[in-house]
Parts: sequence; structure tokens; C-alpha cells
Amino acid sequence: MDHRDKGILEDLEKAGKVLVGIGAEWKAEREPEIFKAYEALAGLLEGKDYFVVTTNTDALIYESSLNPDRIVAPCGNETWRQCSKACTKDIWEPGEIPDDICPHCGAPLTGNTREAGTYIEEGYLPQWQKYTRWLSMTMNRELLVLELGEGFKVPTVIRWPFEKTVFFNQKSRMYRVHETLSQVTEEIKERAVSVRENSVQWIRKLEK
Ligand SMILES: [Zn+2]
Repeated sequence: MDHRDKGILEDLEKAGKVLVGIGAEWKAEREPEIFKAYEALAGLLEGKDYFVVTTNTDALIYESSLNPDRIVAPCGNETWRQCSKACTKDIWEPGEIPDDICPHCGAPLTGNTREAGTYIEEGYLPQWQKYTRWLSMTMNRELLVLELGEGFKVPTVIRWPFEKTVFFNQKSRMYRVHETLSQVTEEIKERAVSVRENSVQWIRKLEK
């Protein structure tokens, strides 16, 4: 463990509030490894006032020990089903509609994600409201921001808003961890650390 890793553990120790962003490096394709990373993250966040924003839609995060009340997935959840024609705003749990056909219009169901032709955003909005309320409470408070493996596919969800949060909150500190895209902007470089490492491996390295 080098001194930079010690730095993050000290920052975690001190942090009252922790904002976490999880991006494409955490896609469930390599599921056992990713799951262990979620558990490592849950361990590091234990007892902290945290919120996790993810752009992944595979829902693996909900099988981890992280508190689902403290997670928002604005890009959706593949395991939830919606009408592919969006004739209704209903969203169904996995297996709730056995033939996977919309009971209202007969169209096939599809995953409730932004990849759906018409994405029904009601699936994540209640959590999004919780998240924005939580975020407003971090203003001028000690805030640790961990951005883990997010690239540029949907920068409006994590990457750009996190930069803005760090820019405006002078008591914040940020770690941007990514194998290739860890660069931090000029405006926040005094408070942000760029860690050019795979974020899944990085978090597992910090595990107690
Ligand atoms: Zn329908």
C-alpha cells in the first residue's frame, strides 16, 4: 500500500459524508469480482452517511450489503420490466408478469432502462429526490467524493455534476479512479486526486 492509499483511508476515516459514483468499470460481466468489490465498498462505508449514484443498470449492486435506500440508478434497472410502447407508467418486478407481455396493450415488456425506446423514469425518481435532498445537506460540510470507474458515456449523471459539487464545496475532497480516464479538471485540481488505476481493483486493495 503506497502513501496515496493511506491518504484515502485517512480521508475516509475523517469524512462525515461520502458521495460515491459507480461507472462502467463495475459492469457485472465479471460478476464474482465485481460483487467482492461492492462488498469491499460496503465495508469501507459502514457507519458513514453515504449515497451511491450508479450509471450501471445490471442491478448487481442491490444484491450487495450496500443500503438500497442510499442508492440511486438513474439509468435504470434491467431486471425491472416496463411496456416497450410505454403505454403505462407501471413498472413490474422480475417475474411479476410471467409471459413478459404488457397486460394493458399486449406489447412485449422491456428492461426499465434508458436503453428502452421510451424510458419510464418513474422507476428511479423517488430515489433521485432522496439523493438531491441528501446532496443539498452536504453544502459546506466535509464531503468525500469517490468517483469509481466512470467514463464519458453519460457524463451528465456522475462525472460533470460531481465536478460541480467539488468545485462549490470547498470542504470537499475527491478521488477520481479510472484505468484510463482519471484526469481531473483545472478548477478542482487542488481538492481532487487522480488515480489512474482500475477502480474495482483499487477498492479491493483498500479492504480491511
Ligand atoms: Zn403497454
